[in-house]
Amino acid sequence: MMTKADVIVIGAGIVGNATAYYLAKKGKSVIVLEATDFIGNGGSSRNGGGVRQSGRNPKELPLMVWGVKNIWPTLSEELGVDTEYTQGGNLRLGKTEDHLKILQKLADGATKCGVDVKMIDAAEVKKINPYLSDEVIGASWCPTDGHANPLTTTLGYYKKARELGADFITGAPVSRIVTKAGKVCGVEAGTGDEKTIFEAETVVVAAGYESNEILSTVGINIPMKKHALTCLVTEAEPQMFKQMLGTAMADFYGHQTKHGSFVMGGTDGYDEVHPRIDNDYPLVGSSMVSATSRGILGYFPILKDAKVVRAWGGYGDFCVDGCATVSKVDEVPGLYVECSFTGHGFGIGPAAAYNIAELICTGSCPADISPLRYDRFKPAK
Ligand SMILES: Cc1cc2nc3c(=O)[nH]c(=O)nc-3n(C[C@H](O)[C@H](O)[C@H](O)COP(=O)(O)OP(=O)(O)OC[C@H]3O[C@@H](n4cnc5c(N)ncnc54)[C@H](O)[C@@H]3O)c2cc1C
Repeated sequence: MMTKADVIVIGAGIVGNATAYYLAKKGKSVIVLEATDFIGNGGSSRNGGGVRQSGRNPKELPLMVWGVKNIWPTLSEELGVDTEYTQGGNLRLGKTEDHLKILQKLADGATKCGVDVKMIDAAEVKKINPYLSDEVIGASWCPTDGHANPLTTTLGYYKKARELGADFITGAPVSRIVTKAGKVCGVEAGTGDEKTIFEAETVVVAAGYESNEILSTVGINIPMKKHALTCLVTEAEPQMFKQMLGTAMADFYGHQTKHGSFVMGGTDGYDEVHPRIDNDYPLVGSSMVSATSRGILGYFPILKDAKVVRAWGGYGDFCVDGCATVSKVDEVPGLYVECSFTGHGFGIGPAAAYNIAELICTGSCPADISPLRYDRFKPAK
């Protein structure tokens, strides 16, 4: 087992795997330490596959826009897997004037940051997606948004990082960052009395919500909370549309996959009280599928006979300001963090990883990640 590398990455979700890949591609030796026995078993393989710029906080937009231009279009080719990336646009739907006001505000914010999003009326919505209910009176439309397959993408990064020599060690929960004279010199990982010190002058914390516990061992804190999200998948249906969908009221979100299934998420409002935890992850409550289905049918009555084959839950690391943290930590030389992705880290994860890898290797990065610094938080009171 390797215990020394140029860089240690903590967490084998899409962000950790992608960071390991981009670092290995630049010639760095990398060890990825994963707490569980699985690769990508966090939110990264449980999500709705949305790759969208619209609807994001403006602080995230420079990085997300950069990722949509520079990473997603060629990712399948680069990783040698079918990420099923489909740039079919994003429709965020509204049924009332109040909904349109919400959508307009989101669209205005995104337009100011250079995202090609605009409001369209019922006729234009129908032209883009003829299967929608006549109750839809308008939508925001971002033609460069899309969706992809979370499993093939997350595992594609893993496979490629391994091919380039990155070493993945599972069942290795990191308990603390080790420093010497204030600088990072490694991490401690393992269970019970079986702890190992892994040495590296650079450490990237990409452990989702648990990042906070790890960062707190060197006095750093990102204000976020753990929140459950749920998803369902239907049997394969004939191909109908390619857009990623959402609504002003967040009744549901989702898309149709390349295979024909609809992957859609929603909530019954009981996300904080999980009926049962399985393999450390929340199972969905019995009312989630019916609540989400009701949301979907309110917009797509045509799907009334589609059969739901599976539903699942996963955790997200929700930040107080709704934004990711993608940053170097100034007080602790050698420490970098990528966390608090707030339920939309799949789409932006690859761009975050690329930019952090560049920052580590060259001291600068192509996208503006300064709004996502770890120290942007001011006291709430
Ligand atoms: C149901 C659902 C739907 C979603 N839909 C979308 C969507 O449509 N679009 C979108 O962009 N995003 C979506 N997301 C959010 C997205 O999945 C996450 O933001 C993203 O996967 C975060 O990736 P990550 O690598 O940071 O975290 P994770 O995938 O959670 O990976 C973190 C890893 O760190 C490991 N770890 C934790 N503690 C330690 C430790 N001490 N030591 C070592 N390893 C540790 C964990 O075991 C885990 O494997 C959704 C999430 C869910 C659950």
